[in-house]
Amino acid sequence: MQSKIAKAIVEALASGYQLDPEAFGSLLKFDEKIDVVELVMKAVQIKYHSDDKQTVLTKQDIEKALPPDLKETDSAHGEAEPMVPEYIEPEYKIIKDPTDNIFPIEGLKGFQSLFRSRLEKLMKIVKERPDSYQIRQISTLKKEVSNSSQKIAGLVMNKKIRRAYVELTIDDISGRIRTIALDEAVKKNATEVCLDQLAVLDLQFSKRGSAIVKDVYSPDIPERLPNRSKKEVYAVFTSDTHVGSNTFLFNAFNRFILWLNGKLGDDSIVRRVKYLIIGGDVVDGVGIYPNQEKELQEVDIYEQHKKFIQLIEQVPKHIKIFIIPGNHDPVRQALPQPGIPEKYAGQLYHMENVVMLGNPIHLNLHGVNVLVCHGRSLDDIVATTPGLTFSKPASAMKALLKARHLAPTYGGRTPIAPEQEDHLVIEEVPDIFHTGHVHTVDVDTYRGTLLINSGTWQGQTSYQMNMGLKPTPGIVPIVNLATLEVTLKNFVMME
Ligand code: FE
Ligand code: ZN
Repeated sequence: MQSKIAKAIVEALASGYQLDPEAFGSLLKFDEKIDVVELVMKAVQIKYHSDDKQTVLTKQDIEKALPPDLKETDSAHGEAEPMVPEYIEPEYKIIKDPTDNIFPIEGLKGFQSLFRSRLEKLMKIVKERPDSYQIRQISTLKKEVSNSSQKIAGLVMNKKIRRAYVELTIDDISGRIRTIALDEAVKKNATEVCLDQLAVLDLQFSKRGSAIVKDVYSPDIPERLPNRSKKEVYAVFTSDTHVGSNTFLFNAFNRFILWLNGKLGDDSIVRRVKYLIIGGDVVDGVGIYPNQEKELQEVDIYEQHKKFIQLIEQVPKHIKIFIIPGNHDPVRQALPQPGIPEKYAGQLYHMENVVMLGNPIHLNLHGVNVLVCHGRSLDDIVATTPGLTFSKPASAMKALLKARHLAPTYGGRTPIAPEQEDHLVIEEVPDIFHTGHVHTVDVDTYRGTLLINSGTWQGQTSYQMNMGLKPTPGIVPIVNLATLEVTLKNFVMME
């Protein structure tokens, strides 16, 4: 079924015509009854010979090309009632966007101020914990054998995992200390701590003067009930469209747009969809990895954006769209990233229902706190934490919440800019935490926070095939903000 429709679209494109989502919807409708390739080519013929010089085929164009018997049945039964979106007053706030707050400081000085800001912000978070009153500076530790332990907190500058022990080196500006975890349970906790995050440690000194870790924990988020919307409204989370890639799933994405337009059912939900969040990698980009051009259907970065914009323009105007960049988008790679420049995103900056933002961002949607970050640091977390996999990114997201930081590890795959202030500390506890990047849909909760990795619209690339990565494309998490319940809608399986 898919191949016929795909073929029809390709044939239309080859003749210089595109299909709008409604026309695409009619193809889905008639696919089982007639040859849709013939139908589209007939519609192209009629349009070509008419006065209408538009190059977009509409539903009306398709209907004109229908054989008489199908035309009649359609008008005899009448059109189904069009879906009418419920009027819901928008209620959103952009709480944090790095775009206008980027002040890099060159060189070593920049990293010193970044890490100082990180330490200060995380210390503040840790000091809110009731059991943290005893935290002392590393320089004031008493290095003597004792039955009671001493508590420190600092950034993890080094982590060595060995069979018999885990070694953590901790720095709190007052000093730096090498610590050893020997106990099995403590070793496990020490292993899960990310490099460069803040950790709190209970230490005891051995006769030889070694600092033995008795307990280690992360700043973490408190267990609590999340905020909810008073109104039943829905937020749709997606990311990693990778428009321009030759594995971009155009048909599935078109169905998604039709669905948002109320053409594919689920009326009770679709009527109340108010927000669409797009978490980066909107285009596949150019020159992102060696030989990428072989996997591109569109090699021009501006054309890639034009195609993306064409798709976004078809999303109904009552839906607010928030767009942030990822590592494939044409903007600085180091975190935090500003929004995709107008030079590329053009029209998106002028559409009333679109808000262009940086990465990461913090939003409030109908009373619900939403933290959105593209999620490149998930690569580093998975790579450095035994037991984590790309097929379950929500577990890596938990590690970020525990660390209260969106990209703790410096010097890994995630470039981090030497900023005056660390914008990547998770200062406010989110009700929803949304990432993309790993191309696997995953939903979980952690201490009351809903975790969503929103998958992708790109099929498996040869790189992913070599790496043994299996993406789950075309599956969209839809969240009822009144209950935080998630529905996963699969737009690929509809084929
Ligand atoms: Fe991606
Ligand atoms: Zn990415």
